[in-house]
Amino acid sequence: MRHISGAWQRTARGAGLLGSDGRPRPTIFAEMSAIASRTGAINLGQGFPDSDGPPEVLEAAQQAIAAGLNQYPPGRGTAELCQAIASHQLRFYNLTLDPETEVLVTAGATEALAASILALVGDDEAEVIVFEPFYDAYAGLVALSGARLVPVPLRWPDFQPDLDELAAAVSARTRVIVVNDPHNPTGAVFSPQVREHIVRLAIEHDAVIVTDEVYEHLVFDGRHVPIASLPGAAERTLTISSGGKTFATTGWKVGWVTGPRDLLDAVMTVKQYLTYSGGAPFQPAMAAGLSLPDAFFAEIAQTQGRRSALLGTGLRDAGFAISAPAATYFTVADVSPLGSASADDFCRRLPVAAGVVALPLSAFVSAEHRARYATLVRFAACRTDSVISEAMTRLGAAFAN
Ligand code: PMP
Ligand code: GLN
Repeated sequence: MRHISGAWQRTARGAGLLGSDGRPRPTIFAEMSAIASRTGAINLGQGFPDSDGPPEVLEAAQQAIAAGLNQYPPGRGTAELCQAIASHQLRFYNLTLDPETEVLVTAGATEALAASILALVGDDEAEVIVFEPFYDAYAGLVALSGARLVPVPLRWPDFQPDLDELAAAVSARTRVIVVNDPHNPTGAVFSPQVREHIVRLAIEHDAVIVTDEVYEHLVFDGRHVPIASLPGAAERTLTISSGGKTFATTGWKVGWVTGPRDLLDAVMTVKQYLTYSGGAPFQPAMAAGLSLPDAFFAEIAQTQGRRSALLGTGLRDAGFAISAPAATYFTVADVSPLGSASADDFCRRLPVAAGVVALPLSAFVSAEHRARYATLVRFAACRTDSVISEAMTRLGAAFAN
């Protein structure tokens, strides 16, 4: 038997990265998507769109391949894409960035998160604040880094953190506060007070804010506010996004991270030895997407708002209690009005009982806090209107009376 002694082994089991057989546990996203394929159930679990993004973006990638852009791009990303990212931040948020030193292209938002966390923490003393429920990669990456995860709860139905609870969680040991705004899995958008409080605490304790804003263009009413745009925030914030949601290209895995030069140099050093570079023909396509007119971005937000409203009405009619989202693909529903005490059981039965797949919120929660979210389910509305309507008809029929 060979000896495997990765540093991750200390933390992986506790973080639920391994199954009871000691092998990698498939993520719930993959597991439930496989159930959807096997049963023919409508998949409102894993968040990926069921239709293609803008033709300008798809064609730009095809042209890039045909034109021979198939070798390693520069490690920081192509000059054209770095410039497009900087121009996008200026156009939408009035944030000024030097495209040569303050922008880094990554293999999806996931690599940006991985490189940022590995760059900023790495000893047992370090603590990383996350808002719980959280996107599963945060707990996994913090576990791999060897740092300690400190979850701050977001509670049904508005999923805003309590300001005192947040202040109590942040200390001299806090190296990073991971923000995810707009938020997966709840669809919440943080209030201005919450954002200000996070910045105040980060300054007071000299922590870095790592903010995941991949749903920045899926805010239904009004505009997204990046936390980096608050006074005093930019110099201690790494802002992460990706083209997956905005351009309906989740399989391309082109992301980016922007921030002050010293922080970005640290992230770049780690990224250099994770993937070095990638996505050559997709980089010009992302640059084309980021340069689309304002009307494109307004339209995708409006479409997502309509689909989420359609989902919300269907869920209420079927008897769920719902937490109305302000952004993202996601809506959280409570199954207790339907007589169920366990979202895990509910989601396991749903594909056969109703022909629909959804995810229990336990997939986004640390083991010790599962009870707090035991009856909550995440539904994803990144499907065409007719697919959502059919899913709601099925739920209505399954739960009639
Ligand atoms: N962060 C959040 C909040 C997400 O929902 C996702 C996934 N969809 C990601 C990061 C990963 O993004 P990417 O596919 O660009 O790596
Ligand atoms: N971000 C997507 C979701 O939350 C899928 C991510 C994944 O499969 N890891 O559904």
